Amino acid sequence: MAEIQIKNIAKSFGAFQALNDINLTIADQEFMVLLGASGCGKSTLLRIIAGLEVASSGEVWIGGKRIDHLSPKDRGIAMVFQNYAVFPHLTVFENIGFGLRMKKLPNDEVTRRVERVAGLMHIEMLLKRYSGELSGGQRQRVAVARALAMEPDVILMDEPLSNLDALLRMEMRAELKGVLAESKTTAIYVTHDQVEAMSMADRISVMHQGDIVQAASPIEVYRDPAAKFVASFIGNPPMNFLPAKPAGPSKWQVAGQTFDGPNTDKAVLQFAIRPEDMQPAEQGLVATAKIVEPLGAHLLVTCQIGDALFRVILDSDAVVKPGQSLTLAPQPDRVRWFDPDTTLAVA
Ligand code: ATP
Repeated sequence: MAEIQIKNIAKSFGAFQALNDINLTIADQEFMVLLGASGCGKSTLLRIIAGLEVASSGEVWIGGKRIDHLSPKDRGIAMVFQNYAVFPHLTVFENIGFGLRMKKLPNDEVTRRVERVAGLMHIEMLLKRYSGELSGGQRQRVAVARALAMEPDVILMDEPLSNLDALLRMEMRAELKGVLAESKTTAIYVTHDQVEAMSMADRISVMHQGDIVQAASPIEVYRDPAAKFVASFIGNPPMNFLPAKPAGPSKWQVAGQTFDGPNTDKAVLQFAIRPEDMQPAEQGLVATAKIVEPLGAHLLVTCQIGDALFRVILDSDAVVKPGQSLTLAPQPDRVRWFDPDTTLAVA
């Protein structure tokens, strides 16, 4: 069992606080993605778990054992980096077997393991090639195979697909997810790419300025963002917001329309809706189309409602011209509300 527990981890670099007070449990065999903008602290957290960085305070436990005082090689962890760190002057076989040789495993065991993971990663035919001769995608597979060959309890990956072109990234993310599920390894995967996070994760931890703002399944993070930051970070384009004023018990006035909403005594809330959760209708929010972008599968229209910019994704057949007035009906079960003071979701 390789459940990972991160307990009250904080990290400062001089006066700069990179991680505040991180608490997170990753279940055995879970695929956890750390998602956040550049500088939010995801790599620092990963490096603390790996033992490449020392936390200022807090503890890391794996499988019920405290491991933060152990050296990196004694933690049962393998790590895959963005730049792969594959040795160009070694063959693929030697690269994959590198860590196993360091551990002084017998030759036949090295061969068995290298062949098994090469099969998993579909690179059996490359084993005799020099890694320096490989394409980026092939090198990336070698790096993952080398990590898996160690048969680690935990695999940590820091943006492992970011050097690949878009098509290869898409192929590799599905493949990597499959291989990790098959190998029954607990995985933590760092990315700033939300599509990668949504498509691969069992759960996503959304990070912002050294905190985990929400840790939940991809669909929950998307449908029920716990805070305005998550709502404006996830989704492309992200959620729309409009100010709302009370209009009676559980009723709120938004851009001249009344909506059912939370029962709270707040004087102001923020009404939120995703661009894909609105339809043109007889009655609804009245918007003026500003920019119309045909994106093939659908039409992205940037509108104005009062002072606010508001984006809506319409059917690709919709005919909309800049300057045109649109009446947009939000799908009632997709409307969300945020407290502008705390920025947290209000039910
Ligand atoms: P990216 O996606 O750009 O890698 P990240 O979310 O992984 O970003 P980290 O690398 O964890 O971010 O860095 C978090 C913050 O800590 C950043 O502001 C960074 O500048 C700072 N930081 C990281 N390492 C050090 C260091 N060795 N010394 C000083 N500051 C550091």
